[in-house]
Amino acid sequence: MWVDLSRQEWKTVKYPAEWALMYVGGRGLAARLLWEYMPVGADPLGPENLLIMAVGPLSGLPGPSTGKLQVAAKSPLTGGYGDGNVGTYMSIEMRKAGIDAIVFSGASRQPVTVVVEGNRVSFEPADDLWGLDTWTTEERLRKRYGRFAGIVEIGPAGENLVKFATIISQEGRSGGRPGIGAVMGSKKLKAVVVRGSSKADLYDERSYNSQAAKALVEIKGRPGYPFWMRQGTMATIDWAQETSVLPAYNFNEGVFDEFKGIDGFTMESMKIEQRGCPNCNMQCGNVVLDSTGVKSELDYENVALLGSNLGIGKLADVAFLNRLADQFGMDTESLGTTLSWAVEASQEGFLKGYGASLEWGDVKAFTELTKEIVNRSTLLGDLLAEASSGACRRAGGCELSMDVKGLGVSAYDCHAAPGMALSFATSPIGAHHKDAWVISWEVQHDRFSYGREKAAKVIELQRIRGMFESFTTCRLPWVEVGLSLDHYPLLLYYATGVKYTWDDLYAVADRTYALIRALWVREKGGWSRDYDMPPVKWFKKPLTKGPLAGAKLDYDKYNQLLDHYYELRGWDRNGVPTRDTLHRLGLDFVIPTLEKYVKLS
Ligand code: SF4
Repeated sequence: MWVDLSRQEWKTVKYPAEWALMYVGGRGLAARLLWEYMPVGADPLGPENLLIMAVGPLSGLPGPSTGKLQVAAKSPLTGGYGDGNVGTYMSIEMRKAGIDAIVFSGASRQPVTVVVEGNRVSFEPADDLWGLDTWTTEERLRKRYGRFAGIVEIGPAGENLVKFATIISQEGRSGGRPGIGAVMGSKKLKAVVVRGSSKADLYDERSYNSQAAKALVEIKGRPGYPFWMRQGTMATIDWAQETSVLPAYNFNEGVFDEFKGIDGFTMESMKIEQRGCPNCNMQCGNVVLDSTGVKSELDYENVALLGSNLGIGKLADVAFLNRLADQFGMDTESLGTTLSWAVEASQEGFLKGYGASLEWGDVKAFTELTKEIVNRSTLLGDLLAEASSGACRRAGGCELSMDVKGLGVSAYDCHAAPGMALSFATSPIGAHHKDAWVISWEVQHDRFSYGREKAAKVIELQRIRGMFESFTTCRLPWVEVGLSLDHYPLLLYYATGVKYTWDDLYAVADRTYALIRALWVREKGGWSRDYDMPPVKWFKKPLTKGPLAGAKLDYDKYNQLLDHYYELRGWDRNGVPTRDTLHRLGLDFVIPTLEKYVKLS
């Protein structure tokens, strides 16, 4: 479905069947659409950028945690490829409408809600919704379009082009960390509503349903399932503290003295509800009351980055900041890394011209700053709306910014985790853990090694996790409770009639990774291995607390690890896929473009 917001026109388009085979769907399809149809050098916040909402062949079907939607665009935060996945009924409704991707081009002059019903599109004025927070927006749209309509929206952060604005659904479901919500805001697109009228057309529905039922039963029977249902990802706080990877004080430390006040057991004592994405039988959204008595949905990443990383040891306070971010429609993780940068930068004297004097743990100051960021209402708020990576380019203090390629590091300190540092540094969207969560393996396997086997493990996980972005379904049944990966080729076969082995899917993942890297090279106008380096703090400033005090990354050894990574991927010493690799992956079509920017090996 192609929706031109400038002209308020739409059409349905059939894309080449070969693309479905090459990329499977979701992220892979989005990357190919951006390569083909986004003008080279597009302004991420200009009408020429494309906003893509895509599902994959397993999204929205009854099955293991399938209620996910991929959102992608050129990122205003990083200037490269950006994406995220959102848990939402929209994935189900898009399948019922027979739409694999919606491409939004152009920009509306007035705020608009795009409503897709079956395969028809209408453009509804959204002046009455513009300025409203995400919860109120969705509540009003649900009254109009029904409880189970597929709805995603932005909040004031997206409207005000905050560089880490996300797209929100169902109150706590958020995706698109690299500012995909700001892209939506730049198009004056307040919300999208989808209602399908049919049902997804499957190759062998009976076998699909039987295989999906087996997977769902397996999830509930896994030994880790009962504890997962109690704590979800919040159990990670205690584990991260034990292993010295819990980010504290802008990633200056890997342990936090007050961790007990924000851990999974504290959360359990406050929990009033459990929520999650549609079609999920292991829902992980743990709801507590925040310090003002309003519901807030927590997980490990937002609690670590808005808690220990800001020096806050009370879960109700963390829940409050988290809830504000969800309502404003901004990324909780980047809010955490931006506020923590602001504290350290102010203490180091970089923010004198902005009147900032910030202290760790100052919830009141962080609350005010969050409001100033979302409205860009003060000099400091406007600065921080650029995220730490953009703010430090104006104010100084980039050595304190915990980001890769502009995107804030998610919640794992890597002073003593070179493999996880490599995962962050080579992730296709910037420093996000969703592409390779090697840390749990790493702390058990030769933690301080920079060897080839570690680079190989990072790639293996990037392949598997990358495929979940393309399926598009949630990876957590496999990651967290150990659902067998053997289900997925079967589910794909029964859904589509195409037989893939996991080796075939690894090739799809490699193709998608290489295509995304090509997009980065094209949009950056060249490439250097500096883009694949983790934050400098992990090399220069050792941990001072905990059992690993004194630990830091070794610069030369990290470079060797990166060399191993490039070699195993078939990329050159600067991190660009070689001609042979591009040819092997069926990506010859990118070669003429890449030759304009780099010397291909
Ligand atoms: S496990 Fe959590 S993130 Fe994954 S689909 Fe279920 S509720 Fe959503």
